[in-house]
Amino acid sequence: MTIIRSTAAELAAGIAEGRYSAEEVTKAFLDRIAAVDEKVHAFLHVDAEGALATARAVDADRAAGKPLGPLAGVPIAVKDIVVTKGMPTTAASKMLENWIPPYDATIVTRIKAARMPILGKTNLDEFAMGSSTEYSAFGATRNPWDLKRIPGGSGGGSAAAVAAGMAPLAIGTDTGGSIRQPGAVTGTVGGKPTYGANSRYGLIAFSSSLDTPGPVARTMLDAALLHEVIAGHDPLDSTSIPQDPAPVVAAAREGLTGDLSGVKLGVVTQFAAGEGAEPGVIAAYQTGVEALAKLGADIVEVSCPHFEYALPAYYLIAPSECSSNLARFDSVRYGLRVGDDGVRSLEEVMAATREAGFGQEVKRRIMLGTYALSSGYVDEFYGQAQKVRTLITRDFEAAFNEVDALISPTTPFTAFEFGARTADPYQMYLADLYTIPSNLSGGPAVSVPVGLSDGLPAGLQVMAPTLRDDVAYRVGAALESTQEPRLSDQIPDVADKEL
Ligand code: GLN
Repeated sequence: MTIIRSTAAELAAGIAEGRYSAEEVTKAFLDRIAAVDEKVHAFLHVDAEGALATARAVDADRAAGKPLGPLAGVPIAVKDIVVTKGMPTTAASKMLENWIPPYDATIVTRIKAARMPILGKTNLDEFAMGSSTEYSAFGATRNPWDLKRIPGGSGGGSAAAVAAGMAPLAIGTDTGGSIRQPGAVTGTVGGKPTYGANSRYGLIAFSSSLDTPGPVARTMLDAALLHEVIAGHDPLDSTSIPQDPAPVVAAAREGLTGDLSGVKLGVVTQFAAGEGAEPGVIAAYQTGVEALAKLGADIVEVSCPHFEYALPAYYLIAPSECSSNLARFDSVRYGLRVGDDGVRSLEEVMAATREAGFGQEVKRRIMLGTYALSSGYVDEFYGQAQKVRTLITRDFEAAFNEVDALISPTTPFTAFEFGARTADPYQMYLADLYTIPSNLSGGPAVSVPVGLSDGLPAGLQVMAPTLRDDVAYRVGAALESTQEPRLSDQIPDVADKEL
């Protein structure tokens, strides 16, 4: 098996046992990036030297007989909305085009402590707003399965990097679905941890009450291994939960035994009908439900009546919080500064900078959010949306009194062609129809590849109770155990594909 086709768990074992060096492993992924990323455009920045230096240090430690952590020497790609000291971090926005952060996000500090070589920074929709990477200021990423199609978003770069064998693992951030939806449409695993279980310190904020960093991988076990590296309390994040992370690695291993007897899974009535969903996606999802039943899971239908209001509530809450968070890009503190000719007023420079620095979708959301928060409207819009959020949380609580986890398709449609959904913002927003409820409630959810629809990957989503990420990993891993070969092992031969 070649290095780039190995899972992160296999690579870690291979390095620990001396079958290959960490340097060889990092080099193999850097070579793959050099060979195919011109076509895929998953990376905004590649740090070959930094990654190789970390890899060599791991090899030196091993030679000296020092103990290695569970992912030591396994390379990783990081979504470019997570700050990395000394390495460009742009959020795919002109606003931060030349910004080099003076500090590391907590999850990056933990990745470095785990001795994982950082290959570089991956593309996304500007400030993580979008579902296709078409809103990146630096050009879209292409889906390795079909280069004429989107890789999902906002974290399309991380998903495409893993799907194309350019990185065994990647970091994503999920505010409304940006880890899971790219996972589903690229045939990779994406995990959104419990809100607050992973530190947000050093994430460029989009919607602070929703943003959650998490793993992108080819297998559930790999995702779990990365989850355990980055999770855990962080005093630098006031919403970080002071509690040990859920034991997701043990849960994934338990799931891989393929036994789900005694586990009760709820099919969400409101999503089961698949209204607006592609028939092929629903068919792939159904095979997943049948596979879970064969493993012994008890499958029942559960009604979550407020889930259908999740999308509109999200599109008030997320833009409201973003309008406040993005106020910091004011031409004064850092980032772009346009029109400072010594004549224009500070307000004029600020306006010119924000006009030039933000893309269309970001501006749309700032305007929407500013309006929803304006006095006289705040109760009617933002306040109402927060009430809907509470009702959705109660739907989850009621459901989890009856079942261990909920299941649904991850996204209503497979990877669409470039330009297909940019004309009407609502068409783009629909991509997250099934993923948003977990963001609003804060609970964990994973997307597992479940099959193909017209030759394109589809995902099944497992939603678990808050702080029970282990339940989601167990069920997801059990589903994965029924696939031979795993969908995510079919690394598409991008090099031969036409653009
Ligand atoms: N697609 C959703 C949006 O555009 C979710 C984005 C995300 O999770 N970062 O807001």
